Amino acid sequence: MKILFASNNQNKANEIRKQLPSHIKIVTLQDIGCTEDIPETGTTLEENAQIKADYVTQNYQLPCFADDTGLEIDALNGEPGVYSARYAGEDKNADKNMDLVLKRLGDSTERSAQFKTVIALNINGDKHLITGVVKGEILTEKIGTEGFGYDPIFKPEGSNLSFAEMSMDEKNQWSHRGKAVAQLIQFLERISSEVK
Ligand code: IMP
Repeated sequence: MKILFASNNQNKANEIRKQLPSHIKIVTLQDIGCTEDIPETGTTLEENAQIKADYVTQNYQLPCFADDTGLEIDALNGEPGVYSARYAGEDKNADKNMDLVLKRLGDSTERSAQFKTVIALNINGDKHLITGVVKGEILTEKIGTEGFGYDPIFKPEGSNLSFAEMSMDEKNQWSHRGKAVAQLIQFLERISSEVK
């Protein structure tokens, strides 16, 4: 089965590819020659994921899914949340975003947070939303060099490592996106066995 992942974020695509069984393949927007930066004009992760998936359905008529992810920090009233990509400015710079989070938290001991991924799947004329959440805490400094985005400052509950200290396989076992993609795989397996 081939399905389009409505994103040009190669970090995300690589994480997802690592998790998929060999009979499910993804192609990205880049692979189909779409260089559009689809505007994320929604006010929730659900809306933004749906906007991206719908854009592809309308323009390319392909089965597809899109993800939108946010880091929700309790002591910052859920910020950066849906604005995670551009928290410190329109240049979407990961280092600046992390620096702003660390500055806003200061030396506070209340550092609980969660990553949440919403996947919008458009397939066979139907729309489905899938959610994956991982709880954890914001570290007091950046640790590790793997991953992307906020990975160096996030440590999932129950682990001694930040996401940026984990291999891709290890991160997938803990992460918001790993959990959402596991459900996506189950769903795709189910509908493909129903068609057979
Ligand atoms: P979006 O889903 O592409 O809108 O991502 C929003 C922001 O969250 C971006 O700044 C990403 O770098 C960041 N982000 C998304 N997924 C992850 C992740 O798995 N780890 C760390 N940061 C992430």
